Amino acid sequence: MPQYAEIAIALPIDRTFHYSIPSHISGDIAVGKRVFVPFGPRTVVGYVISLCDAIDIKDPKSISSVIDKEPLLSSDMFKLAGWISDNYFCSLGEAIAAAIPGGIKKGKTSIGSRLKDKHEDIKEEIRSDPHTLMEEQSMALKAIEASMDKGEHKTFLLHGITASGKTEVYLQAIDIVLAKGRQAIMLVPEISLTPQTVERFVARFGAHVAVIHSALTDAKRFLEWKKIKEGKARIVVGARSAIFAPFENIGLIIVDEEHETSYKQDDVPRYHAREVAEERARLNNCPLILGSATPSLESYYKAKQGEYKLIRLTKRVEERSLPKVKIVDMRMELATRQRVTIFSKVLLDAVENTLKKHKQAIIFLNRRGFSTFVNCKQCGLVLKCKRCDAVMVYHFEKKALVCHYCGYTSSPPDICPKCRSGYIRYFGLGTEKVESEMSRIFVSARIVRMDSDTTGKAGSHDRILGEFKSGKVDLLVGTQMIAKGLDFPQVTLVGVVSADVSLNLPDFRASERTFNLLTQVAGRAGRGEDGGEVIVQTYTPHHYAILSAAKHDYDKFYDEEIVARKELLFPPFVNLIKMTLRARNEELTSKTAGDLAAAIKSEDKDAMVAGPAPATISRIRGYFRYNVILKGRDRLKLCALLKIVLAKFKKPHGVLIAVDVDPISM
Ligand code: ADP
Ligand code: ZN
Ligand code: ZN
Repeated sequence: MPQYAEIAIALPIDRTFHYSIPSHISGDIAVGKRVFVPFGPRTVVGYVISLCDAIDIKDPKSISSVIDKEPLLSSDMFKLAGWISDNYFCSLGEAIAAAIPGGIKKGKTSIGSRLKDKHEDIKEEIRSDPHTLMEEQSMALKAIEASMDKGEHKTFLLHGITASGKTEVYLQAIDIVLAKGRQAIMLVPEISLTPQTVERFVARFGAHVAVIHSALTDAKRFLEWKKIKEGKARIVVGARSAIFAPFENIGLIIVDEEHETSYKQDDVPRYHAREVAEERARLNNCPLILGSATPSLESYYKAKQGEYKLIRLTKRVEERSLPKVKIVDMRMELATRQRVTIFSKVLLDAVENTLKKHKQAIIFLNRRGFSTFVNCKQCGLVLKCKRCDAVMVYHFEKKALVCHYCGYTSSPPDICPKCRSGYIRYFGLGTEKVESEMSRIFVSARIVRMDSDTTGKAGSHDRILGEFKSGKVDLLVGTQMIAKGLDFPQVTLVGVVSADVSLNLPDFRASERTFNLLTQVAGRAGRGEDGGEVIVQTYTPHHYAILSAAKHDYDKFYDEEIVARKELLFPPFVNLIKMTLRARNEELTSKTAGDLAAAIKSEDKDAMVAGPAPATISRIRGYFRYNVILKGRDRLKLCALLKIVLAKFKKPHGVLIAVDVDPISM
């Protein structure tokens, strides 16, 4: 009987601890189970990493009790957690905590306990039959199947234009996996935004599918998890945390829309699910499929280097053509029209035409609210949040000014708080304004808006999309929520009110984001027999991101963008670590950030360090924010260097440091 156990604790402590195993629990303890252990004055949850007979510390504390009847995690999952801890700058315990569902994490539920599944309303098997594959689809499937037969790990980048039948390839690849008696994980960016994809999986595989998403309650999430663990589900469809599904014999992992930023977790551990998927596929010797119409620069670069196998789907199903994209130069509109509204004449005519033909249109603007800033004509004051360095956005329905960073709400002033004049003006536009202008111009049109303001309540996504699908609505106005994955054959027009919103962000990925969004939103048009048209309004009509999106030319975009990345030394040519320091005192924040940058330099004089510089939003909720950026070609080395530096670094009281490895925004 082993005497001691090595325990990882879900706290930001970069080491494990040894505890002794009291005899009354020695029969219950096992690697992969959770235990309660004394830690300082508290009792905390720990994970048993290993068991041993001898340790070199005197008088270890003893484990208080064992929580689980069955191990929670397999040895593979421990390896995966170790990899996350090394690559994303978190403790092993924090990485393990990410791999198990919330309710379990808190130690409330134990595995093996009987929690009744009240929701076992397993749907009747409404099997949708596989399509006969088109040639390109079938070649793609063959390549993937060959790799599965060899039992090797290989990453495929499936670059297929919108509606080229990527999802059908996933479905049939999973069929093969199931026939081999193995399991599959399919990651989607956000379940609520991809209801149609989930529906298709359930229709094809029925009760074999477990769905995991962020809106699940802890109890429901636990039930899905248990269903997987007990082998009742063989396919998991879910958002990023589904990559930790407790399967023992994975045959295939798929990451759909692999370029999506929602795969990056913005809290500790700040892992990227696409990369964790790759590591898990490697550990399981199985293929990984990364699918996208607009691959991330990182993945396409790897494909070009031969690290990934590139597969292309270049044709739309049933030979449907990609929609024609028209760029409208809004500078010309300004110059030539008497009265300028937010819509160009071209767009207005197209909407009118669509309504006349009883077809549907999607009007896209990636910014919510009514007007996006409020200023005083007299003294020039722009109203900002009290707690953040961010402008207040006017929301018409709420009749309030709202800070999009902290949620602070105030009533719109009648007079300027600074100079007391009455000349308060509202500038800029968001989806609320688009909706209201559209209904003013097209009085009889039925319009619905979808953004995070209208989708707060559970079920509201489905309701809005349902109304649109059934044809009860003519125009769907929305933010990026409506840009992805939707398949509505009656949509013949997509209007982009401003392509410049994402282009003007101070981020090295601004062009990539813009290209992706435009391509994705354009892909919503012309999915039916009637074809489709896309109208893009912009003040920068010659930008390569806009031009290549209009031509549906990913390679052209990639070729330009990759040159810029190389010159400026950004990913995929380097890895980045962003350290954000925050404190209530600005001087202290900036000085500590400077000290940290210097400490890195003195540990390694060749380290590429940028900053400190104020963060894009330099104050949030009263905390000043400064960034220090570390660049390098080897992520593990960067993390190791930073571990050494931070271990020695004397952080002043009141300063917080967040470390984000390969951040998705700057
Ligand atoms: P993507 O994932 O690339 O957007 P989908 O797999 O969703 O494309 O395919 C678009 C539409 O075409 C779907 O309605 C799908 O059912 C249909 N489809 C896919 N493959 C075929 C095929 N080989 N024959 C006929 N229809 C197909
Ligand atoms: Zn004023
Ligand atoms: Zn604020």
